Amino acid sequence: MAQIIDGKAISAKVKAQVREEAALLKKQGIEVGLAVVIVGNNSASRVYVNNKKKACEEVGFTSYEYALSEETTQQELLELVEKLNKDDKVNGILVQLPLPNQINENAVINAILPEKDVDAFHPENVGHIMIGDFNFLPCTPAGVMELIAETGVDVCGKNCVVIGRSNIVGKPMAMLLLHKNGTVTICHSRTKNLAEICSKADILVAAVGKAKFVTPDMIKEGAVVIDVGMNRNEDGKLCGDVDYAACFDKAGYITPVPGGVGPMTIAMLMKNTLTAAKIKNNIQ
Ligand code: NAP
Repeated sequence: MAQIIDGKAISAKVKAQVREEAALLKKQGIEVGLAVVIVGNNSASRVYVNNKKKACEEVGFTSYEYALSEETTQQELLELVEKLNKDDKVNGILVQLPLPNQINENAVINAILPEKDVDAFHPENVGHIMIGDFNFLPCTPAGVMELIAETGVDVCGKNCVVIGRSNIVGKPMAMLLLHKNGTVTICHSRTKNLAEICSKADILVAAVGKAKFVTPDMIKEGAVVIDVGMNRNEDGKLCGDVDYAACFDKAGYITPVPGGVGPMTIAMLMKNTLTAAKIKNNIQ
């Protein structure tokens, strides 16, 4: 039977640490600020943005919300990013994705100053992560690494399989596991023998976006199973990529959805924003 990796509890610990450090900065007259930009009426994006604002309150940051209409042009959004780049009160800029079709996401990501890019999506930060010399890590993969660390399982020398190769989850996830000396395989929609590859993983990270994609035959007995997926099941309830109930007995450790990776992503965003404020103020 698997041990549940409690993302809610672990994220609360991370946020408590951030809150402590933010309070120390406040004593030195330094306010930490995060600008959150949302464009359009995507209901999932609204939930994420609200959660991020709530987390800012919890840790003692000031959040600045910019809610723009669905019709916002790329130029208008770039002008806002430029304004936030220059705003001293803003340590981190988060533009909630996805953006409406008329806006090129890469153009917006590239416009954010790398030192305010708390999502770590800017090519400069991606390059730093590749080299292993970074200030920020992308929030979801960084959160997954914390969850794995909490199990006590050492990544070094383990067979690690990541399903998914997106720029925001799969690729950086693989890189972070590699930095910890895991032997990493990345699977995607063209992978042959996917189930067989996954079934050899000591650590399996699913970032596919398909409910019940990972079934017990794809899991090695006792494996660490991390479920990044956020999907809706047939009843409209939030669920991950892993068939949780079916895999529970076979996995060694498993993350639930909700209450696994999701809360960690937000906690790591808070950590990155704190880091941005510390770097700006030359604080170690
Ligand atoms: P994405 O950009 O759609 O990438 C999905 C990946 O899954 C792609 O690399 C795709 O392969 C692969 N894939 C799709 N079908 C497959 C199949 N049948 N077999 C093997 N691989 C397959 O999604 P994403 O942004 O990485 O997000 C993945 C999931 O994580 C989503 O459910 C998303 O909502 C969730 N998410 C959660 C958090 C969180 O905080 N919990 C944060 C971010 C994302 P190809 O590249 O070949 O198409």
